[in-house]
Amino acid sequence: MNKPADLKLATVPMWINGKAVVPALRMGEVFNPATGSVAKQVPYADAATIDAAVKAAAAALPAWRDAPPLRRARVMQKFLQLLQDHQKELAELVTAEHGKTLPDAMGSVQRGMEVVEFACGIPHLLKGEFSENVGTGVDCHSLRQPVGVCAGITPFNFPVMVPLWMFPVAIACGNTFILKPSEKVPSASVRMAELFKEAGLPDGVLNVVHGDKAAVDAILAHPGISAVSFVGSTPIAKYIYETCAHHGKRVQALGGAKNHAVVLPDADMEFAADAMIGAAYGSAGERCMAISAVVAVGDAADPIVALLKKKAEAIKIGPGTMDGADMGPLVTGAHRDKVKGYVDAGVKEGAKIVSDGRGYVVKGHENGFFIGTTLFDEVKPGMSIYKDEIFGPVLIVLRVKTLDEAIALVNSNPYANGVAIFTESGGAARRFENEIQVGMVGVNVPIPVPVAFYSFGGWKNSLFGDLHVHGAEGVKFYTRTKVVTTRWPHTDTPVRGGFNMPTLG
Ligand code: NAD
Repeated sequence: MNKPADLKLATVPMWINGKAVVPALRMGEVFNPATGSVAKQVPYADAATIDAAVKAAAAALPAWRDAPPLRRARVMQKFLQLLQDHQKELAELVTAEHGKTLPDAMGSVQRGMEVVEFACGIPHLLKGEFSENVGTGVDCHSLRQPVGVCAGITPFNFPVMVPLWMFPVAIACGNTFILKPSEKVPSASVRMAELFKEAGLPDGVLNVVHGDKAAVDAILAHPGISAVSFVGSTPIAKYIYETCAHHGKRVQALGGAKNHAVVLPDADMEFAADAMIGAAYGSAGERCMAISAVVAVGDAADPIVALLKKKAEAIKIGPGTMDGADMGPLVTGAHRDKVKGYVDAGVKEGAKIVSDGRGYVVKGHENGFFIGTTLFDEVKPGMSIYKDEIFGPVLIVLRVKTLDEAIALVNSNPYANGVAIFTESGGAARRFENEIQVGMVGVNVPIPVPVAFYSFGGWKNSLFGDLHVHGAEGVKFYTRTKVVTTRWPHTDTPVRGGFNMPTLG
């Protein structure tokens, strides 16, 4: 995969200390998933490159940390304006490297911009607490201070939105940042760094490096980095969490998912099927909040399977830039083959294949990384298509008899990112919301997030660490609390030193 630079190919630069740089390093390929061809190359950072980025971020830290939050917010406001002005350009970069449709890419950029809107309120968000007279003549206050140089490591499926979950909040809090986007979709991160500089961000506050495991390992081991945010698959999230803990770093590592949609017999079936189709096959199923498992309760099963089949087979598949396309290609040929392998396994393990997406060809794009929509019925919990995250346009249906059984099934799955219930019963929905062991819950909403001013994150194997991203939890992650206790001894109460812990206020 990695080879020396090809002089004919466009190269995606890194962004270090406010400048685009192309170090002479190992090179990786960036595909156009709709054509299957290599479109660009990208340099992969080694430990020395990471060290250069950390030095730039550390040098920028003192002035940025001490800049009034209001001034930081004003840079953020200009950045927001530039993102709005360049939304289409960023969406086009997303479609070109990821493959998702342009309207879907526009929506994902919008969701990311909402985090920047949230970060514009940082003066308010950083306000501390104050208590007068915690003891006689003694006051106490708390403040939140930045943690230092932070790093973010992001997945391929949201090239703009997921980086925007991280660096705007970290930077608004007064930290400096090193972003390592997925090497499969590197361009949008560099473009955002350029726009942030244009908005007035000082050099070194945001740096973008590219690469694979070697770059990530250098980030995890670097003593100059205080906190790491990660979003990606579960095995790597666990590795990031454990390695950061070993190196004494603060860490939040969001992992993979298997999101269930429970359909009760009283649900509006047409509405539920439409919602689930979009959530299962949108972005070709390459969303961590994609619905990948339908749990049909009792009499809901036959009608919901029939509707899902009809709607899945009507989905228009084509390049992300094609007018009216509902679904684009998968990100790489290797990923397409992996998804196809899961469909083969599902058939072999005895699941009933209702719609088969294998062998689907988009005319004129025969070499693109396309696969059609697949629907399985009568899936059992022991099958690999249920146990594993497929991350492709494959929807499976499991049949259970009762809501109790549905809740038990969802709660025994090791992933716990998102879940939805479709019902007309407020009582059933309320019980579900209360008992379900999952981080993000939708009631008649298939993908119940992200909302920038709430936090985003799962439970169990979908999150390693304590705090979710953005919202109030993001601010907590990127700041440390300091508690200050104050006494002014010249006031009326005589004060003497003491050897015992005081018992009276
Ligand atoms: P991935 O785990 O393969 O890669 C994520 C990041 O880790 C990339 O930057 C990559 O370069 C790096 N990486 C890959 N292998 C590594 C290794 N061995 N050591 C160190 N670093 C490594 O994930 P992906 O395929 O890019 O993205 C899809 C996954 O991300 C899915 O599992 C999806 O559910 C998950 N995801 C989760 C969320 C969430 O909020 N929980 C959001 C988006 C995506």
